[in-house]
Formats: sequence, structure tokens, C-alpha cells
Amino acid sequence: MINETLSKALNDQLNYELFSAHVYLAIAAYCSGESLDGFANFFTVQAEEEKFHAMKIYKYLNDRGIRVTLAGMDTPNNEYSSVLDAYEHAYEHEKEVTRRIYHLSDLAMNDREHATIQFLKWFIDEQVEEESMFDTIINKLKRIDKDSNAFFMMDSEFAARTFTPPAL
Ligand code: MG
Repeated sequence: MINETLSKALNDQLNYELFSAHVYLAIAAYCSGESLDGFANFFTVQAEEEKFHAMKIYKYLNDRGIRVTLAGMDTPNNEYSSVLDAYEHAYEHEKEVTRRIYHLSDLAMNDREHATIQFLKWFIDEQVEEESMFDTIINKLKRIDKDSNAFFMMDSEFAARTFTPPAL
């Protein structure tokens, strides 16, 4: 049995994952506006991943007999000074997601809610991947000029990123 505090926190996280999709789609739109279609594709795919994260929690709450409720969303940041600025914003966003997942995990551990502890392990591993990915891209972007061939090669490289949804 999941207590009320934990079920509310899981439902909040579901909504925050949907907000993450919103954040990344806004970045994709910024990149499209700059005619950087590869970077735009990267963030469109990222937005798809976030919706998948939300659906993973949606399914879990349903499986545990908890009624999901959706909340309104804040307006995401739509303006960036550069692609690097956008990636730095994304990285900070992922660090906030990690803090929230850790808080959820703390709540589950305090309540010895073992199924939820197990469920959250996937998200903890996922956050290690997300943070590492953004950190690596930021380091690369810092080393190259935004009008260089290397920058446009990165844009082309990211045009190939796709999202294949795993089983929920
Ligand atoms: Mg996520």
C-alpha cells in the first residue's frame, strides 16, 4: 500500500515529466527557428522520452490502484542566446529531475515501500545517463565555435537521433 504522501509525490513527478517534455519541445522550437534541424530533432526526441517517463509512472500508479490527476503547466523558457545556452538549461533541468527522483526514493525508503523503491531504480539509472549525456555535449559545444564545421557536423549527427519506446 502506497501512502498518501508518496502517491501524491509520484503523481507530481508524472506531471513534472510532462513539463520536461514541454521544456524540451520549446528548446526544439528555438533550434528550428535557428535553422538547426539536427539539434531540433535531438530535443524533439528528448521530449518523446520525457512523455515515455510520464507514461511509465502513469502505468505504475494505475497498477497500484492510485488515481492519476493532471495539473496545469508552467510556461517553459522559449528564448535562448545559443545552442550551448539551451543545453546548459537542459542540464540544469535534469539535475532538478534527479533531486526530485531522489526525494521520491527517500520517501519510498522511509515507508519501506519496496515495490516503489524497485520501480524508482530505473529512473535513478536513467538520470545518470541523462546528466552524463548533457554534460558531454556541453563540453563538446564549449570546445567548438558556433559557426565552425564541427558545429554543423554535430547538427547533422543529431538529425539521426531517434526514439524507440521500450515496453512500459
Ligand atoms: Mg525524465
